[in-house]
Amino acid sequence: MHPDSFVVKEKTDNRTTAPHVLPIYATSSFVFENSDQSVDIFRNIETGHVYSRYANPTVDTVAQKIADLETLDLHQHAEAVLTSSGMSAISTLILATLKAGDKVLTQANLYGGTTELLRDIMQPLGIETIFTDLKDLTRVEDMLVRDPSIRLVYCETPANPTLACVDIAAIAGLAHRYEAWCVIDNTFPTPLLQRPFAHGVDFIIHSTTKYLNGHGNSIAGVIVGRDRELMRKQVWRTMKLTGTNCSPFEAWLTHNGLKTLALRMERHCTNALTLAEFLQNHPAVEKVHYPGLPNHPDHALARRQMLGGFGGMLSFELKGGMESGMRFMNRLRFCTLAPTLGDVDTLLLHPASSSHLNVPREVREQNGITDGMIRISVGIENVADIIADLEQAMEEQI
Ligand SMILES: *Cc1c(COP(=O)(O)O)cnc(C)c1O
Repeated sequence: MHPDSFVVKEKTDNRTTAPHVLPIYATSSFVFENSDQSVDIFRNIETGHVYSRYANPTVDTVAQKIADLETLDLHQHAEAVLTSSGMSAISTLILATLKAGDKVLTQANLYGGTTELLRDIMQPLGIETIFTDLKDLTRVEDMLVRDPSIRLVYCETPANPTLACVDIAAIAGLAHRYEAWCVIDNTFPTPLLQRPFAHGVDFIIHSTTKYLNGHGNSIAGVIVGRDRELMRKQVWRTMKLTGTNCSPFEAWLTHNGLKTLALRMERHCTNALTLAEFLQNHPAVEKVHYPGLPNHPDHALARRQMLGGFGGMLSFELKGGMESGMRFMNRLRFCTLAPTLGDVDTLLLHPASSSHLNVPREVREQNGITDGMIRISVGIENVADIIADLEQAMEEQI
């Protein structure tokens, strides 16, 4: 062999002792031992890896861990496909399950990107979306009765920005009665605080970018489903052919984060409840939205369908509208202004001057986003430091 070939030739030693920590398989393809094996792999007789867009050992391990977490103690089996982002999990799932002429029924207060995807990308492809109030079960049933082309009911609970909750079991039951699938975006609660398969949903999606990773260092998503045929023939195949696969490095970062999910969620929940109670009693605050507070309109429902905690997301309305919202944000010293959520550090967003700046006020207010509303992704720091920062930022507003 010549030196120039020698440096190129791959040398893999597969006889080493098994690694303790999940390795990153940074390889685009996998070798066949011989042509018989390649025939078997392509015929699905032998399960082997072929090409990392189809499947990759690092990515598969993380996907299955999330699927197992979503079915823990449920005596059910689920499979998962990891994707390049939360948005690609949603788009892949819609393209995998619907075709032109089919419709989606969903709520008005969805993650902003999801609303835009449904309205601006799916609608022109012939997949129409009907936005309604998913809490109004009579109306939902009426819509399903009248329109058999509704094939998918999509929900988010608790949802941005008021942390309003949807009755998952009731919605899944209605969807099934009229032969539609029920999908839930479980990003906010995570499987630690809410197991939607226990309430009958067909698919769960996550932006793993948020709590599942928890450290704000990767963008990825996941689709989890219980129907093996549907997952393999439609969901996995759509991911593979639209190329929305997750990279092994992003999967590995997600896996690292997942290990502390239980510890983090415990602290997110206690910190958020303490903070909600503090804000509720503060004279500069008009209103606090947190499902863990007994006066939240969906407290009883959240208690019933969530698992002992109400999550790390809360929002509150400052007295004095736009001006006081902006002034408050500018005075923060310890907490961070950032448009993401679910990280270990506390992140604040003033939607009226950021994410919703270009949304007309009437439209924004219809969805509960008032001028003085602040959204907090409560971190896992010592809660006294978070409270002290918010307190000093509100000082002049009393
Ligand atoms: C962030 C987010 C998404 C989109 O996920 P990306 O990873 O940013 O693509 C979807 N749903 C919810 C609830 C989110 O918070």
